[in-house]
Amino acid sequence: MTTGQAIDQETLDQLRATVDRFVAERLIPNEKRVEEEDRIPEEIIAEMREIGFFGLTIPVEYGGLGLNSTQECDIVIRLGRAALAFRSVFGTNVGIGAQGLIMEGTPEQKEHYLPRMAAGEIIASFALTEPEAGSDSASLRTRAVRDGDDYVITGSKRFITNAERAGLFTVMTRTDPDKPGADGISAFLVPGESPGLTVGKKDRKMGQRGTTTSDVIFDGVRVPASAIVGGVPGRGFRLAMKVLDRGRIHLAALAVGASDRLIDEMVGYAKERRQFGKAIAEFQLIQAMIADSHTERAAARALVEKAAAAYDASGAAPLDAAAAKYFASEAVGRIADRAVQVHGGAGYMAEYAVERIYRDVRLLRIYEGTSQIQQIIIARHLLRN
Ligand SMILES: Cc1cc2nc3c(=O)[nH]c(=O)nc-3n(C[C@H](O)[C@H](O)[C@H](O)COP(=O)(O)OP(=O)(O)OC[C@H]3O[C@@H](n4cnc5c(N)ncnc54)[C@H](O)[C@@H]3O)c2cc1C
Repeated sequence: MTTGQAIDQETLDQLRATVDRFVAERLIPNEKRVEEEDRIPEEIIAEMREIGFFGLTIPVEYGGLGLNSTQECDIVIRLGRAALAFRSVFGTNVGIGAQGLIMEGTPEQKEHYLPRMAAGEIIASFALTEPEAGSDSASLRTRAVRDGDDYVITGSKRFITNAERAGLFTVMTRTDPDKPGADGISAFLVPGESPGLTVGKKDRKMGQRGTTTSDVIFDGVRVPASAIVGGVPGRGFRLAMKVLDRGRIHLAALAVGASDRLIDEMVGYAKERRQFGKAIAEFQLIQAMIADSHTERAAARALVEKAAAAYDASGAAPLDAAAAKYFASEAVGRIADRAVQVHGGAGYMAEYAVERIYRDVRLLRIYEGTSQIQQIIIARHLLRN
């Protein structure tokens, strides 16, 4: 079972209060700076380490907080109120960069990496996507060829979050060229400083300034056979899908947090802005946008809670996770659009947070499986039964 060990209520309450304070006093006031500098200030990263953000879901015996999915979502919703770039700094250590190791790593692998990941000393990235293998990730071509006790990895990965600062990559590779689909894929733990591994230049993106993605090139990178996650080849693709299962619930929670913020911004502006002699909040067409946004946010939150509870109960929730990610990420897009509309011309101006959030949340419909891939997963489950 890989659901994390639920921490007790008192500890969770303390963590919630700390996160709320940190979001209000440190993150939101620094949003404009992050947007301008396109980087997260080092002092904020140091404070994140201090709070324990890098180890939110890493088991307690490895120095983390060991949150289960329900508790993780509770915290992520709170964090989602601030610019999404802040969460991205430790997001891969909490989610896709760490979960494979937590779920199926050998005791030696866990001991070697997890304590330093929990402390924020190592940033972990997840390298699945390739230039020719995005949604169809089982067609990936990066290959790992056996050579004595080692494997030699060659290929390239694309759009890898936090690659620039990663000390560890979980890399999905093809170890069996005779098996073209999922069965021939293995996940390797590859240290960032490995000879032959190069991180490309930082991508320029639509939003989420302060986050980084880059290509990662593997040119004959040699790793021992013991670097395969769990030590058994051929299980990498299924592991990646399990990792994304939990990751999608996390992203849906993030969408709910961003929705909360957008609704606050929308309501605040509607009460202040006056036209035709009254606050625009008094116009029913404005009220409709607020009401629709609240309703969608509440529905998204219910889906997140259902998916997280299902995940915690059984260790897997592919249908619920896909439904939550699909709905919450699409809903926050609609809510962001309304938030801009309620702001009128001001909503198009960088001075107002909604302009940035509108761009930032667009990504949620694309990564860790596009909306179309979530639809396919949902339909496949229903048609199978
Ligand atoms: C900022 C950012 C960060 C990322 N971070 C990471 C990371 O850390 N690690 C990592 O491995 N990847 C990462 N990704 C990659 C991301 O997961 C992929 O971009 C995503 O899965 C989509 O793949 P693609 O870009 O190749 O699009 P494509 O697969 O080319 O899709 C193009 C369009 O076709 C649609 N489509 C594809 N197949 C079907 C189908 N069967 N039916 C209907 N429609 C279909 C898609 O929904 C989409 O609309 C990141 C991407 C971004 C933008």
